[in-house]
This record gives sequence, structure tokens and C-alpha cells, in this order.
Amino acid sequence: MKRLLLAGVTAFFGMLAHAEYPDRPVTIVVPFAAGGPTDKVARDLAEALRKPLGATLIIDNTTGAGGTLGANKVAKAVPDGYTLLLYHIGLSTAPALYRKLPYNTLEDFEYLGLVSEVPMTLIGRPNLPANNWAELRPWLEANKGKINLANAGLGAASHLCGLLFQSSLKIEMLTIPYKGTAPAMNDLLGGQVDLMCDQTTNTSGQIEAGKVKAYAVTTSKRLTTPALKHLPTLDEAGLKGFDVSIWNGLYAPRGTPKAIVDKINAALRMALKDPEFIKREEALGAVVVTDARLSGAGHKKFVEAEINKWGPVIKAAGQYAD
Ligand code: ASP
Repeated sequence: MKRLLLAGVTAFFGMLAHAEYPDRPVTIVVPFAAGGPTDKVARDLAEALRKPLGATLIIDNTTGAGGTLGANKVAKAVPDGYTLLLYHIGLSTAPALYRKLPYNTLEDFEYLGLVSEVPMTLIGRPNLPANNWAELRPWLEANKGKINLANAGLGAASHLCGLLFQSSLKIEMLTIPYKGTAPAMNDLLGGQVDLMCDQTTNTSGQIEAGKVKAYAVTTSKRLTTPALKHLPTLDEAGLKGFDVSIWNGLYAPRGTPKAIVDKINAALRMALKDPEFIKREEALGAVVVTDARLSGAGHKKFVEAEINKWGPVIKAAGQYAD
């Protein structure tokens, strides 16, 4: 009887805790450097979530190992709704890239909903002699063995794009890993690295300002963003079938109470309808998600399909880390 009463009291207080969630700031772990594409979407989302969730959101940049260190931090965090993860396509490529991934992608997270999709662009240092794709192609051939390509580590979007770029061209480049494409962009602007494939959320401003050379977009269709619509797709530029688009999703540690997961999902759906948020993302070339991937189940199903899509591509490229 006493035990029953105790269980009832615990359940009651548990329910109260969920009812009161959130009563303090919520942290979003961003697994890449501040100022980069993932950080930007996380900060915009944090602002859009503030009202519907009823909490301040704090960004924690835990960088390294292509985003897997930050993801692991959230996988191991207390599942109380106060530590969330914003991660991109790397969540689905890491299982093939890392032999000893310290978390299970499909088992260790609550899937809270997909946020946005972002195309990528191939850009070059400002003093690179090639001004467009037609000039870049022969430059790449002439400089084989000397070209370097920046990325944000094994598992980053820039890594995946660079991998596909090298294998489609059959030209190997020296890859230089950074903790995010924000610091990589600094080195590209300074002329220390030659090329980078990066999300439009980080590149469109630099392209528009004429600060970097822009060669192509990675999606199968040209973009409509004014600053980017002149760029050819890599597919039309001769790399047949090239099609990479990055997605961002929100996650909580597995075991987060359902009432809290539902609350975050409801707040996320509202945030993604916020006209200010939509406007900001669209200006950077991103598209805010409106389809079935907004539900936890739809989001998880999509990530599972992405794991199955990229796994064989990565295995065929023979890329992995221990
Ligand atoms: N998303 C990474 C960043 O925010 C870049 C990448 O994945 O390539 O820096």
C-alpha cells in the first residue's frame, strides 16, 4: 500500500514536472563552430522557438569529429528536455564513416522534427585564377596533386560534398579539416585553402559580396535565390548525377518523457511557421520543412532512408575513421 502510494506520488510529481516544462533555459548543442551554417540555423531557430516553447534557448558549440562529439554529448545527456541537438546530414553519414561511433543513431535519440533543407555551393579562394566553372575544370586538371579542399571534418556536409566531388572528377585533393566551415571560410578568404563545398547559409553572403569565387551549386536544379541563380549545377557542368542537399533536424536524448517531446514538437511546428524565421532562412537559400518529416516518426523514417542512401556511397569511396 505504502509502495503504491509512493509510486502514485512520484508519477504525480513527474506529471507536474512535465506540465511545468520548461522552467529554465534549454540548451541546443551545435556540433560545429560558432558563425557557421549549423550555428546560424540553430540561432535563428532558438529565436523562433522562444515564444512557442516559453523558454530562452542557449547555444552550446561542442565541436569536433565532424559533429559526432556534439551528437554524443546529447546522446549521453540527462533526458529531461533541457539538452537538445541540432545536427545535419552528418547524423546519417557518420554510421558508415565511423567504425566506433559512440552512440546509436536510430536508438539513442528522440526525433523531434526536421527543420530545413540547404543546398551547397562550390567556392574558391578570392585569388584563384579560375573565375567560373569553365575555367576551373582545366585549372583542376593542370594542378592535380597540389589542390587543397577545406572541410569541417569527417562526417561534415562539406566532407560529403568534397568526397563526391573528388570521386566524380577522379581527382584527389588534400583535404584540410576544420571545426566548422566558419573557420574554414576565414582561411579560404585569406587564400590559405583553394576550394570548399559549403552550405548556402554560409556562402551566399560572401558570393553576393564578391569575396569568394563561386563555381556551381550541388543540387540537381539551379537555385532561385537572386545571388545564386547564375550558378550552374554540377550535374549540368558535367558531373552527371551530382545531387547533394543538406538537411537539419532537432533531437533529444532517448528517454525524454513523451509529454516533453510532444511539447517541443508542437513548439517546433509553430517556429517553422514563423514568417520571420522563414524569411531569414529563404534569404540564405534554405527551405523550411513543411511536410510529414515534421513529425518525430516522419523525421526518423527519413533519417533511416538517408543512412541507407549514403552508407553504400561512403563504403564505395573507402572512407572511414576508427
Ligand atoms: N555544418 C558545418 C558547420 O556548421 C559545416 C559542414 O558540415 O560542412 O560548420
